[in-house]
Amino acid sequence: MEKRICILYTGGTIGMVPTPRGYAPRPGYLGPLLAAMPELTGPEAPAWDLVEMDPLLDSSNIAVGEWNAIGQAIFERYDSYDGFVVLHGTDTMAYTAGALSFMLENLQKPVVLTGSQIPLCRLRSDGRENLITSLLIAAQGKAAEVCLYFGGKLLRGCRAVKRSADGLQAFFSPNYPPLALAGVNIRYDDAALRRPAPRGPAALAPFGNVPIGVLKVFPGIQFGLFEPIMTRRLRGIVLETFGAGNIPDEQGALPPLIRKAWQNGAVLTVCSQCFEGGVLLGEYAASAALAAAGAVSGGDMTTEAAVAKLYYLFSKGLDAAAVKEKMGENLRGERSGSLT
Ligand code: ASP
Repeated sequence: MEKRICILYTGGTIGMVPTPRGYAPRPGYLGPLLAAMPELTGPEAPAWDLVEMDPLLDSSNIAVGEWNAIGQAIFERYDSYDGFVVLHGTDTMAYTAGALSFMLENLQKPVVLTGSQIPLCRLRSDGRENLITSLLIAAQGKAAEVCLYFGGKLLRGCRAVKRSADGLQAFFSPNYPPLALAGVNIRYDDAALRRPAPRGPAALAPFGNVPIGVLKVFPGIQFGLFEPIMTRRLRGIVLETFGAGNIPDEQGALPPLIRKAWQNGAVLTVCSQCFEGGVLLGEYAASAALAAAGAVSGGDMTTEAAVAKLYYLFSKGLDAAAVKEKMGENLRGERSGSLT
């Protein structure tokens, strides 16, 4: 039976047109453009429908409300399609991929995010290949999870990172192998695709506007300056540390803040500024105090995934202790360790 794919257009470079203020998305523009592409209507292409989100956005403006709208748009069409392609700006695509990975529970169909660095209206656009291959991947159904296809690589959505502002291979997943490589053929890595069986029907877990912060440490950081926000305002904190989880803290200013934040119901997750490898709290004395004060190791999770996961867990109404425990578990393949 012919496969049917839903293409959700959220905005982003792929469908943008030049305007006096620079590239911007234009409502109603992409549908006729795609319909006129013979590759998308030929016998090899799956059937597809285009759903345009309103408003269309540069992805720098995509946040919780839009994640919920995208999740809802997929969820309400879930039974009518074999898979989904989400056209999205590249700037925050990795965050949205992470958010959807958690938000769409028990997913059993592919949700492939893609976009382009050069708009479709330009001769050298990378959007054509990204879109066509994403459609095929969504129709093939092998990667039944939230993933991100870009520049020949299919990545697990909650492992992806944008690494280039102008390269056509703009994404990578430094701590997890690509799920598939698209060369002459689309070659899947069956071991990388392995995921636990769903525990029930697909469900949507929308996010709330949880106060979350990301703090990147740097030489000379004065932790005291961040005390009011860390201990009183935030519920989820991602601390981007050096190397395997180390912080510059000769004066020992940070652990009391972490302790206070934890007592006030905030969960601090330690991630690394390095792309490869991950956090091992306690490997060095410089990190041991973080765990002792109540922080949880983010392991090899990306900051993008850690942010999305904090939104997800707090939005489910879990208390800080449960959020902390789950941050240390592998829920969607977002961190190394066995899947729970
Ligand atoms: N600023 C654009 C966006 O993220 C960049 C892109 O799509 O490549 O929406």
